[in-house]
Amino acid sequence: MRILVSNDDGIFSPGIRVLANAAKEFGDVRVVAPDVEQSAMSHAITIRRPLHYHPVPLDDLEAYRVDGTPADCVALGAYHWDEVDMVLTGINLGLNIGHNIWHSGTVAAAKQAAFLGIPAIAFSAPFSIGPEDYAPLMPYLSQVIRDFLKAPDIKLLNVNFPERPRGITWARQSVRNYEGIVVPDTDPMGREHFWFSERAKGSPEEGTDRWGIENQLVTLTPLTLDLTDRAVLEAAAEKVPHD
Ligand code: MN
Repeated sequence: MRILVSNDDGIFSPGIRVLANAAKEFGDVRVVAPDVEQSAMSHAITIRRPLHYHPVPLDDLEAYRVDGTPADCVALGAYHWDEVDMVLTGINLGLNIGHNIWHSGTVAAAKQAAFLGIPAIAFSAPFSIGPEDYAPLMPYLSQVIRDFLKAPDIKLLNVNFPERPRGITWARQSVRNYEGIVVPDTDPMGREHFWFSERAKGSPEEGTDRWGIENQLVTLTPLTLDLTDRAVLEAAAEKVPHD
């Protein structure tokens, strides 16, 4: 089995080493990842300049760095390696739950694989995780990959780890408004600039990814590539028909 591993934190992030080494249990592993951090790039692709694909030393892994986005990396990875069977992305430094799924380069890299017809899993963990904190996650990571291989209906799976997991749960995406936080400041030259951040509003609903993480559960959320709101589509088509 050929397993392509990517991320959005860059090829030297500790999370991608952990994931790639764990993936060896399941087959041949190749890492193709951005040469610098590309977090929150979502599904951007590079179309106005060429991309470069170069080997890079990374433990004893076969690894390549790309000067592009996470989605570019998976596209080039699949181009250079015939018949990739599965793509794994992460482990991201920072949870990708709720609306963060929309911003995430880690999820987009997995989504790029799904676009190419390759089953994929995106893995994310809390931003506070240190190199010594991965050990408690590893049995769960292997379990999730085993479960995924037994469930071929799932084409794209978003997985989030709490810091100290006590179990695994299926979860839906937590969809709620967030507070957009804009912080103004000035640079050393006195020029005005801004930071944009966000915080989820209120407490999470049971059964969502945010709820699972707050209850120390590894959350598994199958994602779809079709963004159509089918209920609204049907209702709208009935109310305002177009031939
Ligand atoms: Mn990231």
